[in-house]
This record gives sequence, structure tokens and C-alpha cells, in this order.
Amino acid sequence: MAKLTLDGVTKVFDDGGDDIVAVDSADVDIDDGEFLVLVGPSGCGKSTTLRMIAGLETVSTGEIRLGETVINDQPPTARNIAMVFQSYALYPHMTVRQNMSFGLEESTDMPKSEITQTVEDAAEMLGIADLLDRKPGELSGGQQQRVALGRAIVRDPEVFLMDEPLSNLDAKLRSQMRTELQRLQEDLGVTTVYVTHDQTEAMTMGDKIAILNDGKLQQVATPIEAYHQPANRFVAGFIGEPSMNFFEMERNGDSLVGEWFEYPLSSETAAELDDAERVTLGVRPEDVELVASGSGDHEFRTVVDVVEPMGNENNVYLRFAGGDESKPMEERETFVATLSGMRTIEDGQEVIARIPEEAIHLFDAETGTALR
Ligand code: ATP
Repeated sequence: MAKLTLDGVTKVFDDGGDDIVAVDSADVDIDDGEFLVLVGPSGCGKSTTLRMIAGLETVSTGEIRLGETVINDQPPTARNIAMVFQSYALYPHMTVRQNMSFGLEESTDMPKSEITQTVEDAAEMLGIADLLDRKPGELSGGQQQRVALGRAIVRDPEVFLMDEPLSNLDAKLRSQMRTELQRLQEDLGVTTVYVTHDQTEAMTMGDKIAILNDGKLQQVATPIEAYHQPANRFVAGFIGEPSMNFFEMERNGDSLVGEWFEYPLSSETAAELDDAERVTLGVRPEDVELVASGSGDHEFRTVVDVVEPMGNENNVYLRFAGGDESKPMEERETFVATLSGMRTIEDGQEVIARIPEEAIHLFDAETGTALR
């Protein structure tokens, strides 16, 4: 087992004379046995990062190290790394047993009896021991995914790379496989890099989460840190569903003034603004409260625009009622509050929204960097 290090890793593609920087100076340490989830919007460089680690793509500059060894120039087969793809990539004409043993037969000199034993042990671990003589076409999606995992496990790799391995499964199976995969990774203790688009997978599966945007790593942190202390506005908006609400504000002394409301700050919070004049105020939907009658500083008159019932909770979209009263309701800014599903609330109802100061996030409007 080993620690995986990306040190200034950059990938530039030449697209007919134009340089495309797919990954820009990525620095990440993934400790021995750690589970890192790599997330970001489409085209941000996730797959390219994974492919460079696997050796399927060259590194333009920077170093990839496994333990103390620089592996940049090692061919994929020489790297003790196993990759699991979204498409499973099983051989249709081979049985499950053959799919799982093929790699060992081709690239190791492991005796046949030991290969048989290794495959059977992995199949047992994955609950597919009774499927060993079937072909992929005779398996469900979840079973095929287990075979793909089994093929990676039998190689006893130092690193697992997984590229959206659960995205072809239906929602129920996906959540079951999510926990199974986590347990498996913990039991095996293999250093893992896992790419996903899925918010739940990103928040629940990894020890650490790395958020990538436009080829640049935005933050590497525990999921809880990234959620509660996002490094910048991008991370704040990307992590969490529904997304954080953002309001563009101008600073006026110890107060923030926006189009729809004014938000006074305590002197301690105002001190954290440094000399930022334009500030983005962020608040998570679950931190917005609805109160009976407005009396405090951080309470605002709003009208319920739409209620989106989610079962256990409601997403309530609100429009500001105060501010420039000459503006028609449909042109007013909306923001969302997540409330318990037990609360009855209806479209068009007037409510007071409270945005508590202890819950707000502040970002420099120019750079997006978190100020608090
Ligand atoms: P998705 O989530 O949609 O799979 P991604 O985050 O995995 O996206 P990459 O596939 O790594 O993104 O692509 C990153 C950028 O590099 C994109 O702009 C893509 O168009 C570009 N790119 C990827 N492969 C090549 C290539 N072989 N030649 C030129 N450009 C490429």
C-alpha cells in the first residue's frame, strides 16, 4: 500500500495549435489507505487526472509519485494501479471467472491454482460466487459492476481509480453499492481516487473531497470542511443541494447593502472583510429561518413563490417583498429555504425570513475567495 502524490501535475492538450490546459498544477496528497473523491463540473479535468495517474495519458509537467517513486514514465501495466470504469469494460464472450482471472493470467506468473483461489475469494467477498460461470450478458447492472470491482481487487493493487463506477445503476442499487463499496475499500485499505458527479457520493463516500473547476483544484478538504468552510464561492455553490443562496452586496461601513435588503454586521464580522468593498453574501437554504413576526436586524419580508415538497422537507422559494416596491413581484430576486416537511406553507403566503449572522458566508466579490 502506498501514498499517492500529485505534485504540480499539469496536462496541456494540443488541439490543432491551440493549447487546452485540462489540468493546471494540481497538488494533492492521498495518504495510504485514504479515499479521495474528485468532483467538479463536466469538462473540469477529472477524467484526465485519473487517466494520468493510471498512465493512460502523459503528464505535461509535474510529478506523480507512488510512495517515493516517480511513476510519470512507467507504462500502465508496470503501475500497481487498478481502474474501474463507468462502462465496466467486461469481455462479453468470457465468463465472470475468466473476466476476473484474465488480467492475472496475462500479467503475472501466479500459479493457476492460486489464481483460482484469489478469484474465488474476491467473488465471495463481493457476493457473486454463484455467478462465476455466467457471462456478463446474463448479469444485472449491479452484478456486472461487482465483477468489474472483482477484476480490480484480484490484482491486489496499491491504488484503485474509479471513474463514476455507479452511474449506470438505478437509484436504489446505487445507494446500496455506495455503502458496499465504502465498506470494501475500508476492509481492503487500498488508497482510492473516485470520480463522481453525484453530490451524495461526494459528501458521503470519501475521507477527503477534491473540488476541481476549469482544470484548477479549488479545495481539498474533508467533506464537512468543504461544506461548512468552503474556500471560495465556487466550492460554496458546487457543494450542497439546493445550492447556497448568494446575494451581491456593497459595503457601507459595518453594513452590507444589496438591491433588496440591508444586512448590518457585528463589528467582529465586519473586521473580517478587510478592505473588500463588494461582497457576496452566502447562506445555505437550511440556515434560512421563517419566523412569525419580524423584529430583529436580519429579518426580511418575503412572499412564498413556489413550494417544492421533498417528503421529509420542503424547499421553499421566496421573493423579497421589501426593497424597491415599484418592481413587479416576478422580477424580484428569489432565494430558497429548506424547511421541515411537517410545516404547512403555501404559495403566495407572506412570511418573514431570518438570515442569522452566525450562518452567513462572505466572499470577496472580485476574487470569490472566502472572507469568513
Ligand atoms: P466529464 O465529467 O464530462 O467526464 P471531466 O471533468 O472528466 O469531464 P476531462 O475529460 O478530463 O473532463 O476533460 C478536461 C478538458 O480537457 C476538457 O476541456 C476536454 O475537452 C479536454 N480534453 C480531454 N481529452 C482531450 C484530448 N484528448 N484532446 C484535447 N482535449 C481534451
